[in-house]
Amino acid sequence: MFVVGLTGGIGSGKTAASDYLAEKGIVVVDADLASRVVVEPGQPALDEIEARFGSSVIAADGTLDRRALRERVFADPEERKALEAITHPAIGAEIMRQLQAARSPYTVLVSPLLLETSQHKMAQRILLVDVPEALQIARTTARDTVAAEQVEAIMAAQMPRAEKLARADDVVVNDGDLSHLHAQLDTLHAQYLAMTTGQQ
Ligand code: ATP
Repeated sequence: MFVVGLTGGIGSGKTAASDYLAEKGIVVVDADLASRVVVEPGQPALDEIEARFGSSVIAADGTLDRRALRERVFADPEERKALEAITHPAIGAEIMRQLQAARSPYTVLVSPLLLETSQHKMAQRILLVDVPEALQIARTTARDTVAAEQVEAIMAAQMPRAEKLARADDVVVNDGDLSHLHAQLDTLHAQYLAMTTGQQ
């Protein structure tokens, strides 16, 4: 199993990059999707959340009331840690399950928190989508219709760009049009295929 961990800040182009690799037949495992699956009704993590945070974080239909939970953990590091102690292992297990089921020459694990969590340990290679900060703000505000200040606040809470760059094995710079991004990915895709030859 050869896993490329794909990460980058908010609005950097992770989805744009992973969509392109998926078009080439590469299985993409999405950590954000996995994080939603593990708190669906019937999942053990949801029961643990209810046991720890109370029924006020469960909506009438039995699903997780994300807003209520967010309010509980917002600005309270202890509460946040307690939540992550429940969710992170469950998300990691769900990601591993999907990675093991994947059948393509290599697999991409796309995650905004690849480096901040232990998820990077599941990847043999770290691929960073890097983007100049002004462009990151412009693209995110255009996509999400949020204020630039809000995007800047999220960026400030994320791992600094320099630290991500230092930890990446490979970097694509998403500072042009999509064909510019795709051309860089073509080169890396060929390299990853070469690296996985003989591993299957
Ligand atoms: P998030 O972590 O916030 O989900 P992301 O890293 O997955 O974001 P994308 O959604 O891929 O980022 O890209 C952010 C926005 O920028 C999207 O609207 C996308 O279409 C656009 N975008 C990405 N790359 C390019 C590019 N090279 N040229 C033009 N627009 C782009």
